[in-house]
Amino acid sequence: TAPEILRNFCIIAHIDHGKSTLADRMLQATGVVQPRDMKAQYLDRMDIERERGITIKSQAVRMPWEVDGTAYALNMIDTPGHVDFTYEVSRSLAACEGALLLVDAAQGIEAQTLANLYLAMENDLTIIPVLNKIDLPAAQPEKYAAELANLIGGDPEDVLLVSGKTGVGVEALLDRIVAEIPSPVGVADAPARAMIFDSVYDSYRGVVTYVRVVDGALTPRQRIQMMSTRASHELLEIGVISPEPNPTKGLGVGEVGYLITGVKDVRQSKVGDTVTDLAKPATESLGGYEDPKPMVFSGLYPLDGSDYPDLRDALDKLKLNDAALVYEPETSAALGFGFRCGFLGLLHLEITRDRLEREFNLDLISTAPNVVYDVTMEDGSEAVVTNPSEFPTGGKVAEVREPMVAATILAPSDYVGAIMELCQARRGQLKGMDYLSEDRVELRYRLPLAEIVFDFFDQLKSKTRGYASLDWKAEGEEAADLVKVDILLQGEQVDAFSAITHRDKAYAYGVMMTGKLRELIPRQQFEVPIQAAIGSRIIARENIRAIRKDVLAKCYGGDITRKRKLLEKQKEGKKRMKMVGRVEVPQEAFIAALSSD
Ligand code: GDP
Ligand code: MG
Repeated sequence: TAPEILRNFCIIAHIDHGKSTLADRMLQATGVVQPRDMKAQYLDRMDIERERGITIKSQAVRMPWEVDGTAYALNMIDTPGHVDFTYEVSRSLAACEGALLLVDAAQGIEAQTLANLYLAMENDLTIIPVLNKIDLPAAQPEKYAAELANLIGGDPEDVLLVSGKTGVGVEALLDRIVAEIPSPVGVADAPARAMIFDSVYDSYRGVVTYVRVVDGALTPRQRIQMMSTRASHELLEIGVISPEPNPTKGLGVGEVGYLITGVKDVRQSKVGDTVTDLAKPATESLGGYEDPKPMVFSGLYPLDGSDYPDLRDALDKLKLNDAALVYEPETSAALGFGFRCGFLGLLHLEITRDRLEREFNLDLISTAPNVVYDVTMEDGSEAVVTNPSEFPTGGKVAEVREPMVAATILAPSDYVGAIMELCQARRGQLKGMDYLSEDRVELRYRLPLAEIVFDFFDQLKSKTRGYASLDWKAEGEEAADLVKVDILLQGEQVDAFSAITHRDKAYAYGVMMTGKLRELIPRQQFEVPIQAAIGSRIIARENIRAIRKDVLAKCYGGDITRKRKLLEKQKEGKKRMKMVGRVEVPQEAFIAALSSD
């Protein structure tokens, strides 16, 4: 295909502003999916496939569109929607020349609208502003067209009005794509270079890799090389998706499609990597390649210890399709055998845990998530702490650094005070504030990641009646006065409850945790102190009083069978008990204490 008739674009939007719905309408308007299939089969089938854990979701669909007698090929490239996956979004954007900036006409600009717009601008994309959902009675097209035009520096008249629900404006939008988005430019006779913007494991076909060819061409049976690892593979199949995978005789300059090499693990075909020709390799790869970096760690343990091997197998399987998931075995005195897992963010953690439970039928307990700390000791040695219970103690710690983020919050201006209060309480530094319109404000904060990964978003939503939106990205690290708080049962540390907190918040954590455990741990034959400590200093304490009579006292001198039955019963109960020193703790107590409320 000649590059002149190609248009590569993506749709960027805040969540729920209607990206998927508009994409469906475009598939229909271009005839790629028939209206009948759209409802009865296409989406339904996708659901089934998704349930079964294999992805056929089109990551890049090719759509024909004719303007003034010329047949164009439009490639619509999908981007992952969530902040956890920003790196992958930026790779998808790098595969395009243009972006549709989609905004809900009843909501206006939100935090992810901005974040995605900035990414698109960094990639020099041509931006087409689009207001969606104009069919809604609450839509305010004039107001938000002005807001959008003001943001990207254009005329409100140029903002397209569409409805993904009714299809209004979709054909005009397709014409605009052809007219405004530049066709791709590349060197046809140069050594092949193609960028990987997605790679998906499919249990039937192995890894399906989505690429955008920049220079040269890729053809079936060719031997290709991954430039980051130098690993080489044979191209078994190459083609375009429209909306089914259609094998072709190759992909040339500017083309977008998929390739299959038979590799079985997405780590062998990494997002951001450059594919070249093994026989005639390119010298320079396209842009930088980044390994996904886990930001949030949590221990995952099976409720039933005998499920441990199943959990390991399940993680191995998920890893085939998730280059960002990392894990290593870990043992906890309180929870038994499990894994310390690293995630891109809390959403990634939740999705992974949910998939492990649903697709692999596991019951899991996860420890409170924590970020990664860099510790410098007084002797100059360095440690990376991903598990709070391994935080070095004693006076030998010189400095602890924690990851920071740059956060953007958008909200109606009435809530500025409430938002500032929240960010201040979370150790935030205000970096800037802009009015997008007279009643809408953008606040920029630098915050510790640890302060926003937990309930920050919920707090923000409740303090702004749901009107604020949030986006953030990692931004270096900073030294802080951080301490490890341990929880001790009768003097024994319970590893699963150790936490790293700012010194000012250590006391509150100690009081909260000891109070919770006092409620949850049943009384024992003896008194059990529950303490919170920083090193050897106790900062909070609760007591579980002893039970006066033991269970056998009831049948003192009574008949022996009754006694035996009681002992039997106790033994059964003990199976789910964990011993911490001399203290018996039902596993439920740990689980309840770990689940947030
Ligand atoms: P995405 O998160 O950006 O992919 O958003 P979706 O396409 O999933 O849409 C979010 C919600 O908005 C869904 O309930 C859609 O049915 C609805 N929606 C999307 N487009 C329109 C539209 O043009 N008009 C109306 N009334 N609703 C829409
Ligand atoms: Mg969607």
